[in-house]
Amino acid sequence: ARGSPTPAILCFAPEREAALRRTLELEAELRIAIAEGQFQLHWQPQRRLSDGELLGFEALLRWNHPTRGMVPPDAFIPLAEKTGLIVPLGAWVIRTATAETAGWPGALKAGVNLSAIQLRAEGLVETVAAALAASGLPAHRLELEVTESMLVEDGPQAARVIGGLQALGVSVALDDFGTGWSSLAYLRRFAFDELKIDRQFLRDLEADPRVEAVVGAILGMGRGLGMRVVAEGVETREQADRLLALGCERGQGWLLGRPMPAEQARALIAAEAAP
Ligand code: C2E
Ligand code: CA
Ligand code: CA
Ligand code: CA
Repeated sequence: ARGSPTPAILCFAPEREAALRRTLELEAELRIAIAEGQFQLHWQPQRRLSDGELLGFEALLRWNHPTRGMVPPDAFIPLAEKTGLIVPLGAWVIRTATAETAGWPGALKAGVNLSAIQLRAEGLVETVAAALAASGLPAHRLELEVTESMLVEDGPQAARVIGGLQALGVSVALDDFGTGWSSLAYLRRFAFDELKIDRQFLRDLEADPRVEAVVGAILGMGRGLGMRVVAEGVETREQADRLLALGCERGQGWLLGRPMPAEQARALIAAEAAP
């Protein structure tokens, strides 16, 4: 009858309420976590595929939750973005990443992921400049990773910020390349220093000759545009060999090293530098 609740609402409402409650809980916990410093960076090696030489590391954010244990970024970054908390959290990542890597030897690069929200917020270039100055990390050793989804929504603003970052001497990588809709348009508009081929291509590299052709074309494009190209998600020796045969010189993935805390990364660097 009119005015009485429909079965659909009866089933759906409590579920939605529970989901909303969980979200609010997580948001409150996220604020506490930022205030109390429950976050940590894990560093994953990037290596030359021909001889395994270390080229740098990418910082991957971890939430060391007091009861839930290590929470992966996919479980909290979307909420941090929705609430705007990604701005202070992202600034923490930039400060911590530069501080942790400033003492690393040689030309080792430190990769840091950026969120679209950070790119859109005021003050990113200043935050990066301040972190470089405070840590003493030379600008050319910092590489900021952006995804094309960030460039879609706010083209002119994104272009200004990326230009501002590159003017500091920092390099900028296009992450998850090949997963979006308009990658090629962005390659024309922005002068990225590096392309990171998304790991979905690696998964099918051996099984599908068409994938091999696509990866080969990406490598050719990278060369033509003067960009470094890195393959993400290299898990097997066979994948590494196939990439090398295609002319891909750099990789990141479990075969080459898992993400690890900064002290462990430092020990790895020292061990590999020893004769
Ligand atoms: P991403 O930037 O594409 O990072 C690579 C992800 O692939 C990482 O997952 C890494 O642990 C995983 N991975 C690395 N090698 C392999 C492999 O061989 N096989 C497989 N299956 N996976 C591999 P993680 O750490 O869970 O991070 C997920 C995403 O969260 C990142 O994807 C990035 O988009 C985001 N993220 C991580 N840290 C930050 C951060 O500090 N700020 C922002 N805004 N986003 C971050
Ligand atoms: Ca990345
Ligand atoms: Ca990626
Ligand atoms: Ca990703």
